[in-house]
Amino acid sequence: MISVGDALACVLDATPRLGTERLSLVEACGRVAAETVTSARAVPNAANAAMDGYALRHADAAAPGARLRVVGVIPAGTVRTEAVAAGTAVKIFTGSAVPPGADAVVKVEDTEEQGGVVTVRVAVPPGNNIRSAGEDVAPGQAVLAPGAVIGPADVGVLASVGRSTVVVHRRPRVTILSTGSELVEVDEPIGPGQVVNSNAYALAAAVREAGGEPVVLPIVRDDPGAVRAGLAQAMLGDVVLSSGGVSVGDFDFVKEALDEARVERLFWKVAQKPGKPLTFGRLGERLFFGLPGNPVSALVCFYVYVRPALRKLSGHARLHLPVVEATLAVATRKAADLTEFIRVRLTDGPDGPVATPASSQSSGVLTGLGAGAALLVGPAAERQLPAGGRYPVVVVDGDGLARTVPAF
Ligand code: AMP
Ligand code: MG
Repeated sequence: MISVGDALACVLDATPRLGTERLSLVEACGRVAAETVTSARAVPNAANAAMDGYALRHADAAAPGARLRVVGVIPAGTVRTEAVAAGTAVKIFTGSAVPPGADAVVKVEDTEEQGGVVTVRVAVPPGNNIRSAGEDVAPGQAVLAPGAVIGPADVGVLASVGRSTVVVHRRPRVTILSTGSELVEVDEPIGPGQVVNSNAYALAAAVREAGGEPVVLPIVRDDPGAVRAGLAQAMLGDVVLSSGGVSVGDFDFVKEALDEARVERLFWKVAQKPGKPLTFGRLGERLFFGLPGNPVSALVCFYVYVRPALRKLSGHARLHLPVVEATLAVATRKAADLTEFIRVRLTDGPDGPVATPASSQSSGVLTGLGAGAALLVGPAAERQLPAGGRYPVVVVDGDGLARTVPAF
């Protein structure tokens, strides 16, 4: 049986980066850039005032008390071509282009204007309150590089250099195929022995959160022909996520259907709990994850294997959920010889985060993986994890991280 580390490496080795598309700026936020954007212009394009006040020649106001004749006004968006002569000043507003001849701006709070003459109460150094042309972006400067994750500030910079669109990596389309004759849709009446197809919802939500585009297919019964037909439909995805039917039961037909579709099987069964029956394969560049049906197993496999693959497909360099080291609050038994992902909650302790296991670790109990949950990684070689032991914890929900209020 393959180890968790080897299985993850195998998944990422098999995962390509997707092609590109051109998006408008706001749409591109959160995407990964796939081009270099070089600015043809300077931002700002002219030296401008950083304050409301008066543009002047600093030599005229080298000592406090200078009196200068006010010869004009430059509201934002207007330009004055006439040079500022010695002994004069021009009223100026934040963002207005500094007129020729002026080499400093004194802020209005340091002045007093009366009868067309301004008294400057301070000594004004050269360059005072002037933002130089190109202070933000110089002509020829690269403002975006391939691989950069585009955030709101990048969107603003791209706009300021005159780019309304940008080339980014495509989002993976992920088809979700739920198998199981016991499954019913969420709004159907439920009979004894039936189960709502909750995996389709949980996985679609997880795909969306990971930056993918989920496509949920109709439920497939435990029948070889039905599974085959469902898989054929699922082929439109860059990634296919099936759930259920990968164990060794008499009605587990997913592996067989993948083999028949000539999907190259890269592994089946991982030395982990939950999620041991996970199967993974590829056909060309298309990836297939046969997730176990148990809701917890399916979601844990998603976080550990599928999410990093989706991130890689989308062009991201940072693939994995954050991991923190935490102190285990209580002694905890775990499965022998398997890496166990133990559902915990994190709280703030004197030496960093403390991990308290959820009361049930059954792979059917999904509530323990709800908001705020994290996964403590119990090493395969250990059987009994001591209270006080330090273990890595995968932070599934960032809001569940032990937090302190920033000291503003
Ligand atoms: P399987 O992996 O097909 O043996 O399923 C294992 C367990 O997961 C069974 O109890 C199933 O009823 C449950 N299960 C399978 N598929 C789903 C699903 N789509 N939604 C919720 N539970 C499921
Ligand atoms: Mg089943």
